[in-house]
Amino acid sequence: MVILVTTNINNDAQVSGTAIMGGTFDPVHNGHLRTAVEILDRFHYSSLKLVPCFQPVHKGRPSVTPEQRLEMTRLAISSDVRLGVDTREIQREGPSYSIDTLRDIRSEIGVSEPLIMVLGMDSFLSLPTWHDWQALIQYAHLLVVSRPGWEPDLISELSAFCENYRAGSPHELQCAPSGRVWFETLTPLGISSSMIRALARKNEAIAYLLPEPVQHYIEQHQLYR
Ligand code: ATP
Ligand code: MG
Repeated sequence: MVILVTTNINNDAQVSGTAIMGGTFDPVHNGHLRTAVEILDRFHYSSLKLVPCFQPVHKGRPSVTPEQRLEMTRLAISSDVRLGVDTREIQREGPSYSIDTLRDIRSEIGVSEPLIMVLGMDSFLSLPTWHDWQALIQYAHLLVVSRPGWEPDLISELSAFCENYRAGSPHELQCAPSGRVWFETLTPLGISSSMIRALARKNEAIAYLLPEPVQHYIEQHQLYR
């Protein structure tokens, strides 16, 4: 059983660390964005980068192009200077394995800087199906955020993983470059990209689930119809 907590590291100074959140962002929505800003406010990283994949490994091919998903992600983050986009998976092409991305970033930032991979509970629960998943923790910390509809009901492989790597406090993520898992409860937002695609397909409103510029982009390019 995993207990999720709410953190506010009592520290106004910025904390060193590279924070990233991977995803298909098909399209990016307020569940992603609110996750990013709540993590920034609570953990005090100077920035958080969204990493759109080129080709998701565990779902079908998106109906819109990687460039369109990237453009929507760019539009979404433009209102907060702390948010950024990392285009390496789209530039790399092929199946987007997180382990390749983490290795790549680690080689850029050096061995001692904390690298924090933010992921939702649904993604975390699927971790044992990821390519080379046991190695991820050698390169980064995992910051697992709550997501409505997904309970932390761990299968045995993940229980053992958590026993080995679970941090006792969020402070531990600042004290080592990688190797810790932390569970964080965020404001619950029951928004998903699949829900937005389904609404668009039915010609129903998608407003207020995602940033207005992204909504307009979808309407203008008639995506997800
Ligand atoms: P789809 O419905 O197509 O599966 P999605 O909404 O799950 O899309 P992804 O791009 O697959 O979006 O998610 C990227 C990351 O963001 C994942 O780690 C996922 O768990 C997390 N995430 C997505 N939506 C939320 C949300 N509403 N709350 C918390 N985390 C979320
Ligand atoms: Mg999903």
